[in-house]
Formats: sequence, structure tokens, C-alpha cells
Amino acid sequence: MKRIDNHLPTADLQRLDAAHHLHPFTNGAELAEKGARVITRADGVMLTDSEGVEILDGMAGLWCVNLGYGRKELAEVAAAQMAQLPYYNTFFQTTHPPVVALSARIAELAPGNLNHVFFAGSGSEANDTNIRLVRHYWALKGKPEKKTVISRKNAYHGSSMGSGSLGGMAGMHAQGGMPIPDITHIDQPYWYGEGGDMDPAEFGLARARALEAEIDRIGEDKVAAFIAEPIQGAGAVIIPPETYWPEIQRICDERDILLIADEVICGFGRTGNWFGSQTLGIRPDIMTIAKGLSSGYQPIGGSVLSDEVAEVISSDEFAHGYTYSGHPVACAVALENLRLLEEEKVIEHVRDTAAPYLAQKWREIGDHPMVGEARIIGMMGALEMSPDKANRAPFKAEKGTVGLRCRERCFANGLVMRHVGDTMIISPPLIMTPADIDLLFERVVKSLDETLAGLK
Ligand code: PLP
Repeated sequence: MKRIDNHLPTADLQRLDAAHHLHPFTNGAELAEKGARVITRADGVMLTDSEGVEILDGMAGLWCVNLGYGRKELAEVAAAQMAQLPYYNTFFQTTHPPVVALSARIAELAPGNLNHVFFAGSGSEANDTNIRLVRHYWALKGKPEKKTVISRKNAYHGSSMGSGSLGGMAGMHAQGGMPIPDITHIDQPYWYGEGGDMDPAEFGLARARALEAEIDRIGEDKVAAFIAEPIQGAGAVIIPPETYWPEIQRICDERDILLIADEVICGFGRTGNWFGSQTLGIRPDIMTIAKGLSSGYQPIGGSVLSDEVAEVISSDEFAHGYTYSGHPVACAVALENLRLLEEEKVIEHVRDTAAPYLAQKWREIGDHPMVGEARIIGMMGALEMSPDKANRAPFKAEKGTVGLRCRERCFANGLVMRHVGDTMIISPPLIMTPADIDLLFERVVKSLDETLAGLK
């Protein structure tokens, strides 16, 4: 296959980048001072930078490269589809084979009667679709007043006006006039940080019942849906207590509101099942998908609808769509990605090998003097760093800077790990072998040791 060689020297790339490229979620002044990290290639679980340094990718890109890097099958399918039909739209009663095949495959994999896919180019777009979709659904059922969507503080559902409003990130809401009207946020099921003296089970119930209280406050006849990630990812891998989801499900069932599970991170194997909803026992009416759907090799997302919701939506023209809804190349690549995930038994590998071994190593890291809690589910985990483990206490003077320092140490030690405040998070490719996990463990421990030494 043709090699791409577009290398300028690193310093030139960094200079041009700082001069002309506006990065997402990046402080421009810091970028200009330090220069961006330049990643030039990747294979398996390893990234290589422009200086030839190898870095273990503990985040699978942005939680998306489930199958790992460098899969030629996906590149070949993309090239073949580009040669045959690089683009056609799916508007106005038109279709093409890749979008048909992918829709049917997603319907087979999705739980329950989630059998219908509305495609988008990303998770953000798919969640924007969901806002319009649930409101239109209730309007078609003669209840146009049912339009509020309830979400959670510290949720992440994307960056567009709609999806950013669904999200509950205070830093995002401080900019640009979010949230838009008719979206509200309840407290999150974050026991480590907010559970106080309650035990986790009690706290999980209390936080789920906040949904019921919010529905009562707004009025059931005005609430369209509740949206949540099965496990909050960007919020810092918040795994809810076991009591949480069954109670949420009960409330949604009893109160006649739609349940949207945002599976953008949890979907396609990350929790050891095809979907996080299966791992956590959730029965959603709609699922948001993206990221692992194509292992990040192509931008694609979608909303997967139950038979009941799809039937109502299809009874009218839904005046909504994106130029790239069901893009043929993205669909062909996603389909091949799903074929490889299945044929190579990647989800079984997560369930039987990678996740149990990672969990064992994570428990060991939990004994590190820096770590107040080490939580993990499938291939996503978090380390809460604390100066006082017994009391789950946050850092005081250094609050918010310890995570940043630890992330810098990780990077210097050849590991990408992200930080949310002083919480470190991982979400590596699902194909990690025990040897990869050993290397991850070694580099995490070294980085924690160095972060601790820097505090003294
Ligand atoms: N939903 C969840 C749960 C996410 O984690 C993300 C991205 O991280 C999104 C939606 C937004 O997806 P995208 O960045 O593809 O727009």
C-alpha cells in the first residue's frame, strides 16, 4: 500500500500548527509555548511520534480505536468503496448497499427491538438528532408539550449546541450560551466524589430517584426523555452503584418517558458486551452510537431506534438529515470493523482475557499511596488520586494540578493517559494482550511514583 510521507521537521510542523490550526479543547497560548505532540503513525496499541518515539495508547485515541491501529483490511475496504461509489446521499428515497448492510448488521447486534438506524457523522450529530427525534416523536403522538430532555451534571454527549447542552460539563456551559432551553440536569451517581457518608447502594438509589423528583418538578406531560451514558466516560469513568440503573429503568418505564442510552463510548465491546446497556441491564428506547462503530477509522455515528419509536417517526417525514448520513465509505469501513470484531472474537477476548487481567492489575494499582480509588469495568478505568485515601479527600493547594502533572509523567514514560482534574483515566484498544497490560501497568506505576515524588 502507498506510504504517506508528509513530514516536515518536527519544529516546523509545530510552528505551522500553532500559527494556523485551532485545536479542540486546547489552550492556544500553552500550545504556542510548548508545541503540539506530533503523531505520525500507529500500529496495534502503539503510537509513533515525529521523532520516532513509541507511545502506548492508553486511550484508544479518543476512546474509539477499539480494534487497534494499522488494520489493512479497513484501509482496503475504504479504497475499494471509494473507487466504486465514493459518495451518494440517503435523502429522498435513495439508498446504497453499504448503508443497507450496516443498518441490518447493527439491528442484529443491538439488544431488544432496537432495529432502525438514523445515521450521522459523529456522536454529537447523533445526539442532536436525538433531541429533535424525541420531540417529534411526542408531537406525532399528540403531545407536543413533552419536549424537555433530562440529562446529568458532568455528562458528556458532544460539542455541538444541542449535544453540548445535553452534556453537563460546567466548563462548556460557561461558553457560548449553553444549555439551550428545555434541557435540565440532575446530579450524577458519582459515589467516590459525592457519596459522603452514604454507602454506595443507598447513594445509587438516591441519585436515581433524583430523576423522579425532576420529572415531578417539570411535570410528566412536559418530559420527553432521559439521556445518560451507561458509564460516564469523559466525566472520569464513573461507574454507578449497582442499584442505580434498575431504579432509573423503573422510573422511565413508569413515567412514560423515553430512555436514551448514549453508547458512544460503551458500545462495540468496551464493557465486555456489544453494548454497555447489556452489561448494565438497561433497556433503552434509543441508543447513540459512534466511535467504536468504525474503530475511529472513519467518522460515523447514529441513533438506533426501537420498533415502536421508529414506527411513529416513520409515519411522517422527519425533516432532518446530514449530507454524510450513511456515507458509503464510512458504512463500508464500519461493516468491516464489525466483521473483524466478531470474527476475531474481540469481545470474548475482552470478557475472558483482557478485562479480568486489567482488573487484577488495577486492584494492585489501588494499593499505591497516591490512589484513593481504582475503579474499572471492561476496558475503561479510573484512578482517583488522593492525599488521604481513608477519607477520599481531594488535594487542597494542588487541586487540579496533580492530574496534569501525572499526565505529563505518563507521556514522558511512553503512555497516553488522560486526566479529569486529579483523576487519571484509561480506555485502551480492546485488543490489548496481557503483555501490553503489563507494560501499561509498569508505566502507570512509574508515573504515579514520579508524581508522588514531585509532591514532596
Ligand atoms: N457521547 C459520548 C458519551 C461521548 O463520549 C462523545 C465523545 O467523546 C460524544 C457523545 C460525542 O461524539 P463526537 O465527538 O463523535 O461528536
